[in-house]
Amino acid sequence: APAPAQADAVVIGAGPVGLFQVFQLGLQGIAAHLVDALPHVGGQCAELYPDKPIYDIPGVPVCSGRELVALLQRQMAPFAPACHLGQQVETLAAQDDGRFLLQTTAGTRLLAKSVFIAAGVGAFVPRTIKVDGIAALAGGQVLYHPTDTGVANARHVVVHGGDEAAVQAAIACAPLAASVTLLHRRDVFQAEPALLAELQTLREGGRIRVAIGQITGVQAAPDGRLQALVLQLPDGSQQHLPLDLLLAYLGISPRLGPVAGWGLAMERKQIAVDTATFATSVPGIYAVGDVNGYPGKRKLILCGFHEATLAAFAEAERQAGHRLPLEYTTSSERLHARLGVG
Ligand code: FAD
Repeated sequence: APAPAQADAVVIGAGPVGLFQVFQLGLQGIAAHLVDALPHVGGQCAELYPDKPIYDIPGVPVCSGRELVALLQRQMAPFAPACHLGQQVETLAAQDDGRFLLQTTAGTRLLAKSVFIAAGVGAFVPRTIKVDGIAALAGGQVLYHPTDTGVANARHVVVHGGDEAAVQAAIACAPLAASVTLLHRRDVFQAEPALLAELQTLREGGRIRVAIGQITGVQAAPDGRLQALVLQLPDGSQQHLPLDLLLAYLGISPRLGPVAGWGLAMERKQIAVDTATFATSVPGIYAVGDVNGYPGKRKLILCGFHEATLAAFAEAERQAGHRLPLEYTTSSERLHARLGVG
């Protein structure tokens, strides 16, 4: 394997607290890498409530989840982190030299002086189909929540799911695929009325066929190629549905997953921290935001911002080996230089 990339800091999780952590580290002169399981930044704000209003961000009377994420991205822009999106940090191991080796599901390896776990309620990962033989096809003929539907070009595609993401994908595939079958367990779809109307038109025009049933197995060629899905129909009978490509949109849900296995002291499924520094039980590893726990903890964005600020100070002092003075962004020339402002 190639040598891992060297990093002063790695922030695990690009939710609101991870984004602000990158900003606070930047103010301290510490450059960060940022990793998230999702293909985009924003964590819960982007994934669970992009259009809902938030009223309790200090100094921002109201903004939507999406707007808050955009503001945080703008704020951290001077410290542009190296981003590794669409991949989950699987392993985190202390090295003999005091650094930490991280590996992601995409094979990215990072060797870091410090690690900031801002993993929230867990990695947002797509729900998978639990049928024998399908796991080996993932990433090839079976794709979970792909954002780019261009892969459907000239292929016989089955889109699996019943919510807006599935409906949207089926509509996007219709003009380019050889055929599109939208597979769901019942003939009821949840999406914006305009999308449902478009789906209806494409069904009537024969561009999208709807199949009702559950996947119970797969049929593969001797070389392993997926040829057909085995479906159980509502009347209990079986049917083979031939295809080239399966795009599954079964929802995305958070899993704490590997974080719990990194050898950090935990308390009631939260990472235990020292509230003076937000350090975990391992020096050099911090936990901020929804993932940590301490007496009085409230899972609020503004609390995570405070935690990220103290964690950045703590790591800067650990690296410097002495206490650092407080500097204001309004007046410090050093901070202005780091921010790239006059
Ligand atoms: P998250 O937002 O959960 O982000 C964590 C990120 O880490 C995720 O993107 C995840 O994919 C990633 N991740 C986790 N593990 C890994 C891994 N191993 N590898 C790679 N990536 C990983 N709070 C407020 O203060 N005000 C509100 O009005 C408010 N309204 C809310 C409304 C709703 C509907 C919900 C659900 C929450 C609301 N909250 C509100 C809570 C707020 O969203 C959370 O406190 C906040 O998102 C926590 O931020 P975070 O960065 O710690 O974690």
